[in-house]
Amino acid sequence: MNCTKCKTKAVIDLPRHNAAFCTPCFTTYVHEQTAYAIKHQRMFGPEDRILVAVSGGKDSLALWDILLKLGYKADALYVDLGIPGYSAKSREKVERFTERVARPHGATLQIHTVQEEEGAGIKELSNLVHRPTCATCGTIKRYQFNKAAVEQEYDVMATGHNLDDEAARLLGNVLHWQEEYLDKQSPILPASVEGFAKKVKPLYRLAERELAAYAVLNKIDYIVEECPMAKGSMMLLYKEALNRLETESPGTKHRFYFGFLDKQALRQGSGQAGATAPQSMAEKDRASLHPCSTCGQPTTGAICSYCKMMARSRLSSSSARRPS
Ligand code: SF4
Ligand SMILES: [Zn+2]
Ligand SMILES: [Zn+2]
Repeated sequence: MNCTKCKTKAVIDLPRHNAAFCTPCFTTYVHEQTAYAIKHQRMFGPEDRILVAVSGGKDSLALWDILLKLGYKADALYVDLGIPGYSAKSREKVERFTERVARPHGATLQIHTVQEEEGAGIKELSNLVHRPTCATCGTIKRYQFNKAAVEQEYDVMATGHNLDDEAARLLGNVLHWQEEYLDKQSPILPASVEGFAKKVKPLYRLAERELAAYAVLNKIDYIVEECPMAKGSMMLLYKEALNRLETESPGTKHRFYFGFLDKQALRQGSGQAGATAPQSMAEKDRASLHPCSTCGQPTTGAICSYCKMMARSRLSSSSARRPS
């Protein structure tokens, strides 16, 4: 198998593109796909400051690596969830990547420790608020990433969601007809109201397998294990189902997700197939959001879900301490 571009020995084949690449051509392909996504969706420009959400996994570290190599000003934020046997390992991967790759580019890493800031590790916290661990984690991460981006005046917050993540999420939203989520499923969410950071997913054109190959070929040391809390999640099941379809019919995930984006763009009237229409989403947000009475972050209720959750946690831990 030879490289489609330079005809030397290929190291990876991409059946969905009917192509194969050697290491340098594959690295160029990944950089070009990301650069195209950033430009096509008008995610950010060369002068913008970007905050990357990193977890220690291949996608987020690859994203940070690609953005720095494309010449963007990208710092990162890591949330230490305090999961025994997992968080210490993933944190170490992030810190090593920062020293080896990011710092020489002048980029910095911030760490938010759930145990210190929210008063308990993610598992204990979810028990206190009687919510599933992943729902608790999602609320904290969304809140803290948004807070950091807004308070430190980053122009945009970037996450490492890839094509597999987006196709699996789309499948879940379609299977349950979550119309509101379908409207908002996009590689770009605008800073629709004051207090909300603009959020982008520059890797949405790249498959999980391609990002794993990019990380290995570019010597990015990442945590291979999934977060133990993901075990049994519906998301993993949707990914498995899509992988099965992809094996039988290469390009299924791409057609499914990109077909959705094209139809969404036409429906929302952006006039550009494949590019979303942030304006209409922004108008909807402006009509329904206002500042949380406790912390000031935008919310649809009187108090945001993070503040509600933290109030519940404080109540549960104080009643647990009270003598009976
Ligand atoms: S699997 Fe759940 S707990 Fe683990 S990082 Fe993802 S959302 Fe958080
Ligand atoms: Zn080549
Ligand atoms: Zn709040």
